[in-house]
Amino acid sequence: MSDILTGYVIKTNDVKDNDVILSVYTKEYGVVSLYARGIKKSTSKNAFACQLFDYSEFLIEMNQMKSMQLLKSATLKKEFLGIRSDYDRLSLASVVIELAGYLEEDNIFDLLDTTLKLLDSHKEPFTVFELFVVRYLDLLGLSPEVDGCVLCGDTRNIETISVSDGGFVCRNCNRQLHLKPRDAGFLKNFRIINKASFEVLDKIEGLGLNEYQLSALLMEFLMTHSGLTVRSWRSVSGSQ
Ligand SMILES: [Zn+2]
Repeated sequence: MSDILTGYVIKTNDVKDNDVILSVYTKEYGVVSLYARGIKKSTSKNAFACQLFDYSEFLIEMNQMKSMQLLKSATLKKEFLGIRSDYDRLSLASVVIELAGYLEEDNIFDLLDTTLKLLDSHKEPFTVFELFVVRYLDLLGLSPEVDGCVLCGDTRNIETISVSDGGFVCRNCNRQLHLKPRDAGFLKNFRIINKASFEVLDKIEGLGLNEYQLSALLMEFLMTHSGLTVRSWRSVSGSQ
């Protein structure tokens, strides 16, 4: 029986000869594995629609009994030229699709869709990336504490951020921790981004959130508390 799936290519694994196994994030079924035969041949008509980040329509031979489906043909629906032509956008999008692959149970297709479309064209790619990570932390129940000190609850004299403790730390508590104080602007921005969502993106533009340091701290939170090793994060350099 044939079926048509639409989704994002989030992973490609080369297998024997010219074959590739694709992981496709679909709205209907979450992550689906497709066996694409002969796709690396120069004559392949489907290759163009099966690259990383491609949003494509896949005609498959559906076999309910198997965990991997056979690809018959693929048609490109949207190509992400902005992501492909810019190093920062490409490296951030790589982290997004890697993280999406770990959350297939929750089906975050809509979040993935929103994030990739904005990463392709929005003028603040790091801000877009941060909003994705903030939502991801929320889904895992790992949002940092940014309303007061994570150790004593005091809302005054916030001095720094402790990744291992999970959020803001006040001057008093930091006498024991000896963490480097953060400047007030950075603490403020860390709070803003953790309270924000894609719905308010136009309101937080231009506030100085579009920077590597803020993204890096959110990723440190994510990796520390989720236990995930996000390999593609290493290629994000902040060379904006
Ligand atoms: Zn405290």
